[in-house]
Amino acid sequence: MTRTKSYARYRALEVLWALRSGRTKKRLAEVSRYDQIVYLTLHSVDTRPSLFCYVNQLNINPSRLEMLIESMKEYGTFADPERVLISGPAKGQGLQFILTFDDGFMSVDRICRRILKKHGIKPIVFINSGCIERGELMASVVSVLEKGKSLEMQCLRVTPKDYHDYVRKLTAKERDLLRNLQGQMMTTKVVRSLVEERLIVLGNHLSNHWNCSSQTALDISESFIECEEYIMRMQGYTLGAFAYPNGQPVTCFNDDCISIIGKCGGKIQFSNTNNCNLRNYGVVESRIAVSPWESQHGIGIKVLREVEAKIGKC
Ligand SMILES: [Zn+2]
Repeated sequence: MTRTKSYARYRALEVLWALRSGRTKKRLAEVSRYDQIVYLTLHSVDTRPSLFCYVNQLNINPSRLEMLIESMKEYGTFADPERVLISGPAKGQGLQFILTFDDGFMSVDRICRRILKKHGIKPIVFINSGCIERGELMASVVSVLEKGKSLEMQCLRVTPKDYHDYVRKLTAKERDLLRNLQGQMMTTKVVRSLVEERLIVLGNHLSNHWNCSSQTALDISESFIECEEYIMRMQGYTLGAFAYPNGQPVTCFNDDCISIIGKCGGKIQFSNTNNCNLRNYGVVESRIAVSPWESQHGIGIKVLREVEAKIGKC
């Protein structure tokens, strides 16, 4: 807790300094000259987030999202993810942004539908097909409940077998409690309607948010293919876009995972880290996390540095 507080304070001071010095605006104006795609990661956008999203800082307030979109529009445009994933970034467009949502929380429909329509933004929504289709709890939610281990360790440990063993023992009441804690996921009906209205494009986040580093090659393949098949049913085609659950290199995926996902049809693989120096991973594209705190400051210095790092690498 202390560490989180001091980290937040450090970041706050850093952004205040950047905003006061005018450096943020100046540098963003500079980098926007380049043809560059910057991917941002969102999860839940809600005024009343679930406990899980709140505690893990996965939620931002809807008004903050609108603020963020407005400030991004000053420096670039929002790209159509389908066009970019099929043909690559268009030349001469300058800085371009793509919003992505992970996990498939209901707020993508309930809250974001209006915001996305208003701004003409089509995001990639990386879904966990098992959570939507079979109403499974996210593996990460189950792992949070195990006692005596750090969250990171728990995420690493949960395998499909662990999950099913654990869930089988729950009473109906406990399952409801967990569902409440997790927050509402989209239903198939909702996914279908968003896709049919061409408001979102679907990406793969595995059938149930397994941490790839702790899975067997077979587990990863089966889970990936199950999610691809679901996307095919919903959308009629798949872009082969994949986001690693939990998203951090080393602890959540490694070179073997990249190779397995690639062989199963993952054409572009996204990590979710706060640095952009992952080009060496080949097919892995780094996304920038939008935390509740950052969003309060529009595009903060942290995001800016990542944009700079990314451009430096290209
Ligand atoms: Zn996720």
